[in-house]
Amino acid sequence: MLKRKTTGAARRASIETQQSGGTIDRRTFLRGSGLTIGGLTAIAATGGTVTAANAQGAIANAVQNIKSVCTHCSVGCTVVAEVDNGVWTGQEPGWDSPFNLGAHCAKGAAVREHAHGERRLKYPMKKENGEWVRISWEQAIDEIGDGMMNIREESGPDSVYWLGSAKHNNEQAYLFRKFAAYWGTNNVDHQARICHSTTVAGVANTWGYGAMTNSYNDMHNSRAIFIIGGNPAEAHPVSLLHILKAKEQNNAPVIVCDPRFTRTAAHADEYVRFRPGTDVALVWGILWHIFENGWEDEEFIRTRVWGMDQIRDEVARWTPEEVERVTGTPGSQLRRVAFTLANNRPGTVVWCMGGTQHTNGNNNTRAYCVLQLALGNMGTSGGGTNIFRGHDNVQGATDLGVLSHTLPGYYGLSAGAWAHWGRVWGEDPEWLAARFQGIKDADGNDASLMNKTGIPVSRWIDGVLEDPENTDQPNAVRAMVLWGHAPNSQTRMKEMKTAMEKLDMLVVIDPYPTVSAVLHDRTDGVYLLPASTQFETYGSVTASNRSIQWRDQVVEPLFESLPDHVIIAKFANKFGFADRFFRNIEMDDAETPNIESVTREFNSGMWTVGYTGQSPERLKLHMANQHTFDKTTLQAVGGPADGDYYGMPWPCWGTPEMRHPGTPNLYDMSKPVSQGGLTFRARFGVERDGDNLLAEGVYSAGSEIQDGYPEFTMQMLMDLGWDSDLTADERAAIDAVAGPGTNWKTDLSGGIQRVAIKHECAPFGNAKARAVVWTFPDPVPIHREPLYTNRRDLVADYPTYEDRKFYRLPTMYASIQAKDFSTEYPIILTSGRLVEYEGGGDETRSNPWLAELQQDMFVEMNVRDANNLGVRDGAQVWVEGPEGGKVKVMAMVTDRVGEGVAFMPFHFGGHFEGVDQRSKYPDGADPYVLGESTNTAQTYGYDSVTQMQETKATLCKISVA
Ligand code: SF4
Repeated sequence: MLKRKTTGAARRASIETQQSGGTIDRRTFLRGSGLTIGGLTAIAATGGTVTAANAQGAIANAVQNIKSVCTHCSVGCTVVAEVDNGVWTGQEPGWDSPFNLGAHCAKGAAVREHAHGERRLKYPMKKENGEWVRISWEQAIDEIGDGMMNIREESGPDSVYWLGSAKHNNEQAYLFRKFAAYWGTNNVDHQARICHSTTVAGVANTWGYGAMTNSYNDMHNSRAIFIIGGNPAEAHPVSLLHILKAKEQNNAPVIVCDPRFTRTAAHADEYVRFRPGTDVALVWGILWHIFENGWEDEEFIRTRVWGMDQIRDEVARWTPEEVERVTGTPGSQLRRVAFTLANNRPGTVVWCMGGTQHTNGNNNTRAYCVLQLALGNMGTSGGGTNIFRGHDNVQGATDLGVLSHTLPGYYGLSAGAWAHWGRVWGEDPEWLAARFQGIKDADGNDASLMNKTGIPVSRWIDGVLEDPENTDQPNAVRAMVLWGHAPNSQTRMKEMKTAMEKLDMLVVIDPYPTVSAVLHDRTDGVYLLPASTQFETYGSVTASNRSIQWRDQVVEPLFESLPDHVIIAKFANKFGFADRFFRNIEMDDAETPNIESVTREFNSGMWTVGYTGQSPERLKLHMANQHTFDKTTLQAVGGPADGDYYGMPWPCWGTPEMRHPGTPNLYDMSKPVSQGGLTFRARFGVERDGDNLLAEGVYSAGSEIQDGYPEFTMQMLMDLGWDSDLTADERAAIDAVAGPGTNWKTDLSGGIQRVAIKHECAPFGNAKARAVVWTFPDPVPIHREPLYTNRRDLVADYPTYEDRKFYRLPTMYASIQAKDFSTEYPIILTSGRLVEYEGGGDETRSNPWLAELQQDMFVEMNVRDANNLGVRDGAQVWVEGPEGGKVKVMAMVTDRVGEGVAFMPFHFGGHFEGVDQRSKYPDGADPYVLGESTNTAQTYGYDSVTQMQETKATLCKISVA
């Protein structure tokens, strides 16, 4: 952790003193006079355009304290920025925030340098004859825009790929997805594809919504904490506050399952090491003991779960002996884990990318869900699946639909989904449809790419390199826009280099140049556009627990950077659709959409997930009154937001006027729906194989329907006689959509939701969770060996999938697994995060406070492997993957990883196969720390449902460099 400050208590008093206009301590005086290091750096960073205030003047103008939210991980820690005459001079963690309670990790403590960073991209640039040349924004938008319109004319809109970001705020994310729609493509995506897409798909298809069910704070109530494939001590450090509170207060055992003994494992009561890529086998091994001993919650299963019998049949084969053969974990240990979970309820299950980034990642996430369903740990405080998201707004960008398979709010791409958003946008459906390219489908019928999933970010390189004859779009991708995306967070970087070189145009929009600026050997056709950070603009951001927070603007955009929504507006103007695009949105000026107005537009359409009740006014009220919220329940106790849950975690049903408080724990039937209670969603019909899919005689508190029920439609209100509760305006809005066929998702008035909740029913129905997802390739989650496996003895019993085409692209499985690479590449390679850095690491490796902490890219290898290979700790080694990519890194010899397993962090970039690329960055914009990307050595492999990339279980060989 960084230590730049005096004790928190003392500093806190200092801020309060300033706010009340009282006396000023010595540090405040120094800060005000511009004599601190931070003050001088800030002035330097503005290019000298800001004049240092004299001491007397600065003291007279009290330092402003402005609240924002950390832009790194999804915990959502409040940052209090101290701003003096427009210069960001200092920062403190928010003490009132229920999420961070005055704590920050190293990354959060260093965000001022993220904004003021001297290594930022300072003005638009393009590469001309191999040199970076400064250009104006006007020239950049003109040249890029003309080039894109030419490509659109020649090859169709799908030949331009719009890759967005989890770094957008909600308003920018929403505009970005809408922008792709107006451009006429579904080739739009963001980081969620490669971090938690298998979670979203697995969880949403089990019980309704694809998100963390409870919250960091609710873990205070957990009696056991089961963490698998997650390392929150490094990836979500402040979350440890909440986990350790449960450990200390409730004596809750912490069980950590991970192939690597992580810093989180160091806090565990029980550490379970297992072979990478065997999560399903491990979980079924635990469940085997639960079923064997009758420790499951039979009544919960009977009333709220469908398909558990089919799970029992699969679990029966996972005897302790078979589990040990596949996972390497002794049966006796898993019996102890099962006993602990059974005797400490409710327990929570936490997972991250160790579970999700696999070719069978959706099987893993569903197995975790089934474990919780079997234990009856769902829909209860202290239980749930606490799925820690990655970037600060990856939850929000997912919800707002920056994805190639859906529109905002998970509406999908069907005609009905487009009709819904067309109504919200006030758009002419024919105009919108004409923006997209038509194709012949597999049966030779006319179809539109409007209704076809686009290429996911994990596969964009195949969109460029694959012969269009083999794809489901007419032409290859010719222009790539990487907007807030680190390419080194993706696998197959050698092929990515080739793809970047094949493009007509590469556009990078980011506060930092990123590895996209240097990975390729292009001499022309590359543009770098400086985006502002979230500290230079304002708007809403969704934390992992579904709470939405409001950031205020800390400073004006630095250098020549522009906020994302302004850049979107520039392109909309260039492409000639700005008038239509912003028709319902107020503009602060011709190129600045008003953020609150954008919030209100998505409020008016996001009925599916309840992003409708959180108006800008309510969000700001919560932020201003953080201190009134209980630190465990997240509910305001008195004050202006009395009864609301902090940040109104979605679903926050109905209109803002309805004042729904938000839903702190999903599917918790102990509360009325009007007060944040919920049932499992009726999303999969009402009957399956003759079985009732609706809940059996159970319902949320106060429900007037005392049994399971389907999702609400206008027809259902009429059948119940509740339609008379609608106002005339609501009735008119419902009739304007589809009359009796209008449902809770498409009613733009919110009347159906309001009336359902008036009778304490969940608008989306009351159903069973499904343990078996019959629409997925593996309805019952099963173990499948990784594509690159060194356990050839298991391939016959647990083969991967057959090769198939989906998301427009042919995708290989069996054809890779058929070949044995394990003799030449005997070591399992996995990857993960470090506390000092975030994502691809460009921002954090450009931050002097963080760069100082971790300067070398490394590979962790086991002592026995190192000795057998003649590798000494600290030596340089080559790590080479079976597809030919190799990296030269420092060896860290450690028992953190087991024998036969190697680990590399994924935040490094700027070296490529042993060659330092520093000279290729624009002058002064190279990160302080460069290093090899693990993903240069990482290989092919994609989840069978979502195209998530496999980064946790491939093979490599290691040799002395
Ligand atoms: Fe909090 Fe995460 Fe930021 Fe660290 S990185 S301060 S845990 S939000």
